[in-house]
Parts: sequence; C-alpha cells; structure tokens
Amino acid sequence: MSRIPLTIIGGGVVGCAIADELSQSIDGIVLLEKNRRIPGENQSSRNSGVVHAGIYYNRQITPLKAELCPQGNKLLYEVCPALAVPIKRTGKLLMMTDQLSEEYVDDVRRVAVENGVPGVERISLTRARELEPNVEGIGALYVPSSGIVDAAALVKALSQRAQERGATLLPGNTVVEIKPHQGYFEFTTVTVGDENARTFETERLINAAGLYADEIARLVNGQSRYEIVPTRGESARFYHTRRPEMAMKGLNVYPAPYVYDSKTGEQLQVSLPEAHRLVAVGDAIKTVGIHLTPTFDEVGNIGSAVTIGPAKTVGIDKENYGDHLKSPCYFHERVRNFFPGLRVGDIELHQAGIMAVLKGHPDWIIERDARYSGMINLLGIDSPGLTACLSIARYVKELIS
Ligand SMILES: Cc1cc2nc3c(=O)[nH]c(=O)nc-3n(C[C@H](O)[C@H](O)[C@H](O)COP(=O)(O)OP(=O)(O)OC[C@H]3O[C@@H](n4cnc5c(N)ncnc54)[C@H](O)[C@@H]3O)c2cc1C
Repeated sequence: MSRIPLTIIGGGVVGCAIADELSQSIDGIVLLEKNRRIPGENQSSRNSGVVHAGIYYNRQITPLKAELCPQGNKLLYEVCPALAVPIKRTGKLLMMTDQLSEEYVDDVRRVAVENGVPGVERISLTRARELEPNVEGIGALYVPSSGIVDAAALVKALSQRAQERGATLLPGNTVVEIKPHQGYFEFTTVTVGDENARTFETERLINAAGLYADEIARLVNGQSRYEIVPTRGESARFYHTRRPEMAMKGLNVYPAPYVYDSKTGEQLQVSLPEAHRLVAVGDAIKTVGIHLTPTFDEVGNIGSAVTIGPAKTVGIDKENYGDHLKSPCYFHERVRNFFPGLRVGDIELHQAGIMAVLKGHPDWIIERDARYSGMINLLGIDSPGLTACLSIARYVKELIS
C-alpha cells in the first residue's frame, strides 16, 4: 500500500482552506469528509456569515484569535473577489444602551486598537442613525472593516481550487479508527453505500474535524484531554423591506458583548473585571451577542432578509439541531433595546448551527499532538473561524514546514 503524504480529516471551510493552501507545495494531499457533499452540513454551512474585524479578541486571553482574525479579514477581502465569492465590507455598529454596555464597548475599542483593526471609532447616536436609520441607544462603536461573506460559496470555491492544485477530496468517507505507528498513521474509513471498511496509511494527519476534533484527537492519543462542548446557535430572520420602521441600509448591528454562564447559558450582568475572571476560570463564556446581519440575495447583492442570532444553548448533543428551539419572542427580547422597530410577528425562525466550543479554552488550539508529532490538531475552531480560515491555513503551513 502506498502511503498518502498528508491527509486532512474534515471538509469544512478550515479543512478546505488548508487543502487549498498546502496543495500549492505538497503533492498527493487527500481530504476526507463524512458528508456526502462539500459543502456539507456543518458549522461552515450554518453560521452568521459575518466577516469579523478582530475587535473582540484580547491578546492575553486569546492570542491566536487576536492574531489570525484581523489577518483573515484582510485575506478574505483580497481572495474572495478573485474566486467569485460574494463578500461585502458592510461595516458594523455596536450599540451601547446603558452604562454597563459602555464599559464593555470601551474595552472592545481598546482591544481593537491593540489588534491593529483599522478605523474603529466611537460615534454619537445621530451619526449611527445616518449609517443605519432605525437603531437606538446612547451611542455606538463603528467598525468599518466588518462585513459579510457567502460561506457556502467560499467552501465550494476553496475545495474546487484545492482540487485544481492537485488535492483529492473524498466526501462520503468517515474516519472511524486511527492507529499511530513510528513515523506514520494507519486509519480506517467507512464510505457511504459501501459496507466494507478500508484502511490506508498516511505520513501526516491534519485534524480539522470541527465538532468531532476532540474525538479524532483521542483516536490517536488517548491521553488528549481536550473536550468540545457543543453549543447550538439558533438564528431567526425578518425582511427589513416590509415596514419603514425596520428599513436598513445593510450594516451589521450588534449589542455590546456580554458573558454567559458556561453551564446554564444564562446571560450574566457583571462588571468587566468580574467577566474576565469568570472567563479565565472557565465559569463563563464571552459572546458577541445576538445581532442583526444582512444577507445576500440570489445575485450577490445585499438582500431584504436580515438574520438575528445566534441564540446559544450550551452542551447539547453534537447533532441536535432541532429540539427545544427558541421562540421569535426570545429573539425580539434580545434586540428590541437597540432595534426597537421590530415586532415579534415580523420574526420567523431560520436555522441552527452547532459551534465547537472548547471547554476551558477561550482560544483556538492549533498544535502538534503531544506524542505523535506527525499529527496537527485544530481544536475548538469556533467563531471567528470562518473569517480566519485563510490565515489559519497559513498558520498550519508554517507549523508543518
Ligand atoms: C451558529 C454559528 C454562527 C457562526 N458565525 C460565525 C460568523 O459570523 N463569522 C465567523 O467567522 N465564524 C462564525 N462561526 C464559526 C465558523 O462557522 C466556524 O469557526 C467554522 O465554520 C469552522 O470550520 P471547520 O471547518 O473547522 O468546521 P466544520 O465546518 O464543522 O467542518 C468540520 C468537518 O469535519 C467533518 N468530520 C467530522 N468528523 C469526521 C470524521 N470522523 N471523518 C470525516 N469527516 C469528519 C464534518 O462532517 C465537517 O464537515 C459560527 C458558527 C456557528 C455554528
């Protein structure tokens, strides 16, 4: 049996971006994806599609996100037009509605400056309303480099270019077993529609299995202690063209970030230092909050549908997309402070995605396995993993060479 030089497990946006990047310098790359198609059902097809600027990620707590998000933002705006992937630098407003939210937003501005995010400024409500007429609050933070991207089109384009560059993509194949050996790995896959499992050998392995990356890491090294806490993010939507009070020009509109209890998912009203303490000990998770995001229409222009989300449920089954979904009232309650024109009746439920949040680690883990250095694990690639897919791929390339 001839050995595969490098195998990637997972054909989401990160696995495809890595295949695309590495296939420029490595021949014979194979990517295995358990979905029957790429793009398939995964985080990459069920997200908000926001191109994050890099304003939320504190260098001390989340150094990788702080570094790779602004880099990825820049790369996406460069690469997507060349790949005919719809992308738009819409800009974003973070609405402040009270003193506590002002404290959180001032911290966001400080972090944005530290991360070198361009053009971030605090603006008055009057100025915010010139940009987005129907917002409410005591002022806003304006972030011009935020935007939206068509995530499915990006996955498709990256997977196609990876194949053109010589990679082999094999959807419909689930990796079920991996045995590490001296200098190589033996792995077994099950193919959709074929009852016979097949075994292959590979010199190097990249684990980009999203929600299942912790389980893949343990298949190789039983001592790996990383654990993913599946966190469902549900979204709803409305059509802003239906009433004048909802009219939007097409910006991302966010509340101030906040923290939620890592066990119950309940929002916590705590000061910023206390929030940082709770996040550091793993008792709370910081979130960008439930926000309004414009979407593309069929021809790649900003359309009339606006999504609201994600509403989070912590610690559910990795495939539980549908039980006990939040109601339109829940979404209405979370946005009416900063977008008061909306009524409950305007809101319809849209979709749910499940995020690969890593227990006790707010940052991503991208590293070689502690025992088997031929394997690179990408663990807890939650948001802004879509934004940073290209910079993550370059980071992996550096790690591998
Ligand atoms: C609700 C929600 C909203 C989000 N919003 C944003 C946003 O606005 N902006 C942003 O930048 N990011 C956002 N994210 C995060 C972003 O979507 C993810 O970081 C990114 O999609 C992760 O990509 P991935 O390739 O690592 O994982 P995935 O897309 O989950 O892909 C992993 C793949 O591995 C495959 N796989 C797993 N196990 C196996 C196996 N044993 N064998 C073969 N294949 C396997 C799976 O089938 C899957 O296709 C959001 C995520 C969610 C869920």
